[in-house]
Amino acid sequence: MDPKKEGLTLRIANRLQGIEGSPTLALSAKAKALTKAGKDVLDLTAGEPDFPTPAHVKAAGVRAIENNQTRYTPVAGISELRSAIAETLNRQHQTAYAPAQILVSCGAKHSLFNVFQTLLQAPDEVLILAPYWVSYPPLVQLSGARPVIIPTTEQDQFLPNASALRAAVTAQTRAIILNSPSNPTGAVMDQKRLSEIAQLAIEKDLIIVSDEIYDQLVYPPQKHYSIIQVAPKVIDRTVLVGGVSKTYSMTGWRIGFAAGPQAWMDTMTTLQSHSTSNAPSISQHAALEALAGPQNEVSKMRENFQKRRDVLVNGLNRLSPLRCQSPGGAFYAWCNVSGLGKSADTIASLWLEEALIAVIPSEGFGMEGYVRMSFAASKETIEATLKRLEQWLKQR
Ligand code: PMP
Ligand code: GLU
Repeated sequence: MDPKKEGLTLRIANRLQGIEGSPTLALSAKAKALTKAGKDVLDLTAGEPDFPTPAHVKAAGVRAIENNQTRYTPVAGISELRSAIAETLNRQHQTAYAPAQILVSCGAKHSLFNVFQTLLQAPDEVLILAPYWVSYPPLVQLSGARPVIIPTTEQDQFLPNASALRAAVTAQTRAIILNSPSNPTGAVMDQKRLSEIAQLAIEKDLIIVSDEIYDQLVYPPQKHYSIIQVAPKVIDRTVLVGGVSKTYSMTGWRIGFAAGPQAWMDTMTTLQSHSTSNAPSISQHAALEALAGPQNEVSKMRENFQKRRDVLVNGLNRLSPLRCQSPGGAFYAWCNVSGLGKSADTIASLWLEEALIAVIPSEGFGMEGYVRMSFAASKETIEATLKRLEQWLKQR
């Protein structure tokens, strides 16, 4: 539809022109629909663990319903949950966040939306490292600011180079988005890089938005570092975003959070008070149990992901011309398919049509030549994928 031709009634706001729906969610939905229609699809699209939410967390949700904790809560979240989030962050990063500096929202995606709407406007520019999580550029654009994309390379393990970032800074640059471990590459930032970026942020007076939603999904010997831990002096210019979706297999509960300077969090809360109000009360009680309760399920899931990662990555590297670095975190393999001589988009379509393997092509992540394969799928699915790919490569 061309909104200009359709007259005022059907007009869509300018700020949404050119914004496409999330390709990861769209492809996951397509794979699920094919499975529902009876096709034997091997689905490696999903950015969500296949494990059930831990039983004690589910029970806390059920208890919240039974105890009639089903009403509005304070906009920023129940105080117990905000305290548990502050305590978790303070323990992990040796910080001193007060519960009042925590805003609970409807998923980390919502937290990021609130951050950008609150802190950005035209003609601000935001530095985003590519490949990036699909939602960063649209989220930035929706605030009126302009995404400035800085590519990383396979040779550099998809890690940022501070001098490339420095060269991209202009008088308009307002913020930089960090995402370690990264979706889609699984790259984990080291202390040296983080401290160089912190230095740059101080020098150029930049805000740091650090999306650490995969912070608990880091595989030894890799370790997760937050920029606020490596360079505590940036805490006053950083918003840290996290959530329970990935760590506790709680994608559907929709609980994310942001932590940052009080004035920013207060304004974000004002914004949220006019949009969603509080995040769902029942989910908040479940998230409280997830964070404050026993953590053994998290270690089990992490160990499982690590095993699956090794099966997938080793298997892919046996299938020339595919090649894949072993990701240090998150649950995605970023597989180089450029040796097949076609665009990643074409390869993903061919795999789906000819081998019933569903993956996400790299174009939506701002890079050519790769597909993202989630190993938050069962070991059986991963093994079957490798077999089918072997067949497909033989027959092509
Ligand atoms: N950031 C990144 C990097 C992600 O991969 C996701 C997953 N969708 C999110 C944020 C948002 O997660 P959620 O909204 O489920 O908390
Ligand atoms: N973040 C997940 C992914 O990248 C979930 C989908 C989405 O929110 O875009 O697949």
